[in-house]
Amino acid sequence: MEILIAEDDAVTRRMLQKTLENWGHRVIAAKDGGEALEAFSRGGIQLILTDWMMPVMDGPELVRQIRKTKLTSSIHAYIILLTSRNSVQDLQVGFDAGGDDFIAKPWNDIELKARVQSGVRLVELQNELERMAHTDALTSLINRRALVDSLRRDEDRMRRENRPIGVVMTDVDHFKSFNDRYGHDIGDQVLRLVGQCLAASVRGGDYVGRWGGEEFLLVLPGADIIQSAEVAERCRTLLESQRLRTRDGRVLHVTASFGAAATEGATRDDIMTLVQQADKAMYWAKDSGRNRVKIYVSSADPARRRKT
Ligand SMILES: [Mg+2]
Repeated sequence: MEILIAEDDAVTRRMLQKTLENWGHRVIAAKDGGEALEAFSRGGIQLILTDWMMPVMDGPELVRQIRKTKLTSSIHAYIILLTSRNSVQDLQVGFDAGGDDFIAKPWNDIELKARVQSGVRLVELQNELERMAHTDALTSLINRRALVDSLRRDEDRMRRENRPIGVVMTDVDHFKSFNDRYGHDIGDQVLRLVGQCLAASVRGGDYVGRWGGEEFLLVLPGADIIQSAEVAERCRTLLESQRLRTRDGRVLHVTASFGAAATEGATRDDIMTLVQQADKAMYWAKDSGRNRVKIYVSSADPARRRKT
């Protein structure tokens, strides 16, 4: 694990760094609180060992600043304070600031190792929970919650850069009949196959997730409606070319219907409207015979026509 250490005493710093590196950790060493905060703000650090008494910014202040720092990851960084102080009031200051644990100086290696290990375990557990909260267990793609989060973030980014963003709603054709005729095991295989085909067909920077049931959503930052339809068509043909074999030797074809929508210029609706438009186009694809791509055009949308 990557560990940030903040320690103003050069000898102690080097000793600490060496010890942690010997235990297999990567270490970023800072000589005061300011340097440490800077390193933390760059992101990716989840475990911190900080000295209490340091110039520029002391340990408790560093902890307070770290707790205030908003990073894209919501992971709680685990902070261990190194202190030669041992009066209860002083420790209280460290915990009030947001410290998770402390080690008294001079430390012994067995204790240090145990404290660092419990920090590492906690961070790893958090990461695993975070991953599970964003992942669809069946297909290993991101789930709807993560899709919506990323979609909002990317729409903001594309808006700032004055670029479009496309989404493609995908729905497996006749999915219910796979489940009914061949069992849920085959149904699951169908969903995994579709997920793999979609993931293999998107461009770098695009992503795909499971929207729910037999629906998948592709998010294509920077793509206009034509490019979105092209990606969808690539997905469609790849899926169509695949064969799924059942245990009793049957060969199954799987197809899906696709609806593409994209933001245009300055007139942007809420991002969920874009998803609804892609959904609508996907139903047009179903209505016109399935296994095809339809793009959303507002003039073809009865709900829109009524308004204008
Ligand atoms: Mg010091």
